[in-house]
Amino acid sequence: MASTRALVWFKRDLRVQDHEPLLRAQAHGDALAVYLIEPEWLDSPECDASHVDFALQCLAELREDLAQQGLPLWVRVGSAVSVLSRLHQTLGFTHLLSHEETGPGWSYTRDVEVARWCRQAGVVWQECTQTGVVRRLKDRAGWAARWQARMDAPPHRLAGGFRAAAGPDAQALPTLASLGLAPHGRTLQPAGERAAHDTLHSFLRERAMGYRRALSSPLTAEAGCSRLSPHLAFGTISLRTVHQAVERAIATTPERRLAHDLRGFAGRLRWHCHFMQKLESEPAIEFRNFARACDGLREGEFDPARFEAWCEGRTGYPMVDACMRSLRATGWLNFRMRSMLVSFASYHLWLHWRETGLFLARQFLDFEPGIHWSQMQMQSGTTGINTLRMYSPTKQARDQDPQGLFIRRWVPELARVPLPYLAEPWTMPPEVQRLARCLIGQDYPAPVVDEASALRAAKERMYALRGQDETRREADAVQARHGSRRSGLASTGRQRTRKAAPARGGASSEAAGQGDLFA
Ligand SMILES: Cc1cc2nc3c(=O)[nH]c(=O)nc-3n(C[C@H](O)[C@H](O)[C@H](O)COP(=O)(O)OP(=O)(O)OC[C@H]3O[C@@H](n4cnc5c(N)ncnc54)[C@H](O)[C@@H]3O)c2cc1C
Repeated sequence: MASTRALVWFKRDLRVQDHEPLLRAQAHGDALAVYLIEPEWLDSPECDASHVDFALQCLAELREDLAQQGLPLWVRVGSAVSVLSRLHQTLGFTHLLSHEETGPGWSYTRDVEVARWCRQAGVVWQECTQTGVVRRLKDRAGWAARWQARMDAPPHRLAGGFRAAAGPDAQALPTLASLGLAPHGRTLQPAGERAAHDTLHSFLRERAMGYRRALSSPLTAEAGCSRLSPHLAFGTISLRTVHQAVERAIATTPERRLAHDLRGFAGRLRWHCHFMQKLESEPAIEFRNFARACDGLREGEFDPARFEAWCEGRTGYPMVDACMRSLRATGWLNFRMRSMLVSFASYHLWLHWRETGLFLARQFLDFEPGIHWSQMQMQSGTTGINTLRMYSPTKQARDQDPQGLFIRRWVPELARVPLPYLAEPWTMPPEVQRLARCLIGQDYPAPVVDEASALRAAKERMYALRGQDETRREADAVQARHGSRRSGLASTGRQRTRKAAPARGGASSEAAGQGDLFA
């Protein structure tokens, strides 16, 4: 194949190990690699400077690692088609190699344009899978077996170095400032492929014992969860690598309790793809309700003052505010507390999930569109079929932060509030407020809504909607289209999939994770 030249296009796969496009590139005469910092990404409402910062840190390491293999990584700022066509003019590559992506709307549009450009330019674009997401899927029959087969397949290993098509990129990596982005001020998890492997190994060797118990409280989850999510989102480690390492650990540990915890973790790796599949199969869920019967439920009732209080962590509900402030500072929050934040926004504050979801997407360093939008809708009751889960922020405070450590850490105004009042500081008598140096309405906000009446109103509206025949009929269709097939039975539901290539289309902690639709 001496006459062919491959361009490896890095997207959300910033690693060397288990990278099929890299391996395929070795079969060509020579190769080059590129990463695009696209204005469409920077301008998208889900993008935050912390995401870009994390990507840049990953790229710095990746560039070095690829250089050691003899492959220069060029990093270019610009729209995909214009950069690719410039590179094509100067380098004349014949093959474009990348991974499939289940991204937000802008990335789907971009992939359509790239596919068109490739056809016109005579470039062969090969896309490889890297998760369990299946394109052009008719229904979920057999999905789990396909997931298993992909995850159990041998990882892709490079055979020696590369014959580079060009010298090293003369341009330095961009900075946040050169990209016009303000500093984000967050303390981020370490980025890059080495950090991903370190995180996996520290979880398997030191932190996994007690995983299932540690999941729910933000205090224990911080170290007790794997913390692999940003690495999976940016692709600094492949899902297969994580899956195979966990299966090996389960098979070899003599500790039955540890094996039990690891199996709980292993199940979540399936959920990762199970949720992403929903966006792949029905891209519109990024923008509109899963269940169309929910259209009009919250639209037109958006209260900006409530939204602002929620975003700023100033709702007057200490657990909500502590979680939001912690998330904003670190870019991460455990699953249960993410659910509580959304439940509070969607039910207590009656805010539409799209706006709150965009805000959270910017806060989550691990923003993964397929998981994110499915979860936003599930926690807001707009899938039509999940059990409605309305979290009480006062109960969650007592259950998950019984000593008030998390609240006091993130809401310093409440540092001196006696423990019995900490979940509901507005119930402090005036003299206790004075002694605690926390006057409600002055030092710390009064509750933005009354919990009991807000919840009552939300339940009335949700259950009234659920009771309608039309809603039930639609729920059956949603279940048929997106529900998992535990028994392996074929779906009878219709599937709407994009046709043209590139296709893309107070509960128990375990159950609350997935609900029924997504189990
Ligand atoms: C409203 C909302 C939005 C969310 N948005 C995202 C998102 O954008 N990106 C994201 O990765 N996760 C998201 N999650 C799921 C979950 O909260 C995170 O995956 C988890 O907290 C990440 O921490 P971890 O890697 O330590 O998780 P672990 O508990 O160690 O789990 C390991 C991996 O399994 C997967 N996983 C775990 N829980 C879930 C779940 N409930 N659904 C799907 N996959 C799961 C993730 O890939 C995770 O990294 C969201 C949850 C909610 C309620």
